Amino acid sequence: MFQRVLVANRGEIALRIIRACRDLGVGVVAVYSTADRGAPWLHLADEAVCIGPGPAGESYLKVSRIIAAAEKTNVDALHPGYGFLSENAEFAEMCRECNIEFIGPPHDAMRKLGNKNEAKKLARIAKVPLVPGSEGLIATEDEALKIARQIGYPVLIKAAAGGGGRGMRVARNDHSLVTGFQSARQEAEAAFKDGSVFLEKYLEQPRHIEVQLLGDQHGNVIHLFERDCSLQRRHQKLVEESPAPNLPVKVRDEMCKAAVRLAKTAGYYSAGTCEFLVDRQNNFYFIEVNARVQVEHPVTELVTGIDIVREQIKIAAGEKLKIRQSDVVQRGWAMECRINAEDPGNNFQPSPGTITRWQPPGGPGVRLDTHACTGYRVPPNYDSLVAKLLVHQPTRPEAIAVMKRALAEFIVEGIKTTVPIHQKIFSTSAFVEGQVDTTFIERVFYGQGSAEPGK
Ligand code: ADP
Repeated sequence: MFQRVLVANRGEIALRIIRACRDLGVGVVAVYSTADRGAPWLHLADEAVCIGPGPAGESYLKVSRIIAAAEKTNVDALHPGYGFLSENAEFAEMCRECNIEFIGPPHDAMRKLGNKNEAKKLARIAKVPLVPGSEGLIATEDEALKIARQIGYPVLIKAAAGGGGRGMRVARNDHSLVTGFQSARQEAEAAFKDGSVFLEKYLEQPRHIEVQLLGDQHGNVIHLFERDCSLQRRHQKLVEESPAPNLPVKVRDEMCKAAVRLAKTAGYYSAGTCEFLVDRQNNFYFIEVNARVQVEHPVTELVTGIDIVREQIKIAAGEKLKIRQSDVVQRGWAMECRINAEDPGNNFQPSPGTITRWQPPGGPGVRLDTHACTGYRVPPNYDSLVAKLLVHQPTRPEAIAVMKRALAEFIVEGIKTTVPIHQKIFSTSAFVEGQVDTTFIERVFYGQGSAEPGK
């Protein structure tokens, strides 16, 4: 096992990783930007190193500073968390070249899976169903028009390097295809320095269901079942749950097997997620792999009883997975609400600032992963997630009841949060019945149409 791990991240996930290190008896070093100086999670590490100014490009994304901090503090491994450098294969390789084990997948697999177009090629080899679309990248408008007419409108123009819902445009006719093609390329070029795009059939009101994977360096890969992450705003998740409501067991089992096949084909290890869209006939289609720990991983931890971050660290240290597939069972129902510093009444605009009052919920069945507290200042520089409120109960109706109780207890003053929209969601009959899809929030609360990417 490692002696000391550096956590190359901030906020709730940095705290989550610090806790996993403590549980394993591993030393832990935190890093911080000047915008996070004095932040509450830093005190829980053995040491904290400043890596630069607030803008992420000058600190949490600055490879040279992070490697320097790792060398200075003499760590033998680094956990990237999610976001920032977590899916940067060059960074992973550089860490390993410097004898700092990157707690994540092999960099070759990251490289292949990090590009959606390349990932689709692997999925084809692994016989994992794909959304109908172009065979590869699209270079010209004419090619886009030809393929769009073949697939049939509506189509989705997608950036190969895309992430966070960026570089995506829906086109319902030739005209919007031409404008969307240009704007998706520009957005992707600006955001990812790679403007390449491909086309997919745009599925109407699909569900987003993903499979959690764990693999070790000895060729063992298992799945930890699925999460439904259909409740999204602007293609970013807001509520996640496991199991997925109203999903036939046969479909779930096929999805899980397909995800394991893909991971094996890619030579994958560590934690990872295989994301699928599911249409109204319960056909499922692969969309992408997230080669890292995800925000919503605790949902699966609650249902399976497996500590995913701890497993990730053990796998990186070369240990064999002790959990067999047949050991993994779904017990009860877990749900997560992402509590963001955002104003749901104003198009989810970020709402940074000082939290003047923070009174979190608790009690039976509640888990709260958060780095916030009274007096904490949410900096404007980073992702707006301030807490993940989770519940675990024997059944879905009980989970909903406990979540409503927990949301009602949650008092946050000084910043706006997504608590009110969660209260609305958990009181909406369609949600209570499990009738969810990726357009639900925009359709039900904000009026049809605004759900489409690029709007
Ligand atoms: P990103 O990497 O930017 O998050 P994804 O490929 O994971 O992009 O897709 C994010 C979300 O966009 C999905 O959860 C879904 O809501 C929507 N989406 C993606 N592909 C399609 C598609 N072919 N049809 C309909 N919606 C889609």
